[in-house]
Formats: sequence, C-alpha cells, structure tokens
Amino acid sequence: MKKILIYISLLAIIFACSSNKNNNTSSFESIDEAVIVEVSIDSLTGSIEKIDRSNEDWKLRLTELEYQVLREAGTERAFTGDLWDNKKKGTYTCAGCDLPLFDSETKFRSGTGWPSFWEPANSLCVAEEADNAYGWNRVEVLCARCDGHLGHVFEDGPEPTGLRYCINSVSLNFVEN
Ligand code: FE
Repeated sequence: MKKILIYISLLAIIFACSSNKNNNTSSFESIDEAVIVEVSIDSLTGSIEKIDRSNEDWKLRLTELEYQVLREAGTERAFTGDLWDNKKKGTYTCAGCDLPLFDSETKFRSGTGWPSFWEPANSLCVAEEADNAYGWNRVEVLCARCDGHLGHVFEDGPEPTGLRYCINSVSLNFVEN
C-alpha cells in the first residue's frame, strides 16, 4: 500500500512539473486558441496572418477604454495608464490579440506619460500608416495582426534609431520575464 502511495505521489509531482513547464512556455498563449496562433518573436520571418473580427465581437472582448483606443484610434490621457512608468524586464504584447510588440530593452523615459520605445520587438509585428487627422502629418502605429491602434511613431527618439514609438498603455499587456 505504501509503495502504491509513493508511486501515485511521484506521478502527481511529474504532472505538476510538466504543467508548470507548459505555463512558462506559453507566455504569449492566445486569448482564443481556436483563432489566434501562439507566436514567438524569434520565429517570425514572414507575414503575419490577420485576425478579422466584427466590432460586436471586439466589444465583447475588450473593455470600453481598450475598444475606444484599439478599435476607434482613441488616445488615453497621459500618465493614466498602468505601463508608462513600468521598469520591469519583459515583453509588451497587444491587448487585443497577444502579439508580442515591444521589448523592455527598447523602452525609454520620454516624459510624455505614455510608454515609449525606440524600436518594435520585430518589424513584422507593427504596421505603420499615414495619419493626417486634425491637420497633423503623423504616422500611426498598428498591431500587424489585429489592426488595433497602438499609437504613433515620431522622429524625435533616442539613439540608436532616433524613433519614438509613443504607445497607449491600454493597447498593451505586459509579460514579465
Ligand atoms: Fe493585436
């Protein structure tokens, strides 16, 4: 009987270890595994398969503010987001579809009140479009997978790129290393 209990305990430990391992390797696991494919930044070499959802579907998945910013190109108030002053090491992912977008290594203090980066984690992950709204000539930054609005990119950033990706905190989730 004692041997059987030890055997069962060993099986439980092995199962627990394998579960933990899976958790560690699924940092970018999708919110909807049936639609969103897990993406590793290092493995990205080609185009990214788009996610196309109705506005009604997005409204069910996002908070009101996330919807306003991600789907309606809104802007959160400066210094109000959770991540503008985040100094932890990790990866910033899309709040709409979990695609890895920026690495903490490229985050810098811009003083704007929005998370700021000098480079995307992978150029395939972000799309850029001209934005001439309100009479400004700006470049909009979008998630390359779900077309969610992230923010804008400006040419007044630090070295080595000289770029400043000014991103809404609410458009991002953070996965600590
Ligand atoms: Fe996205």
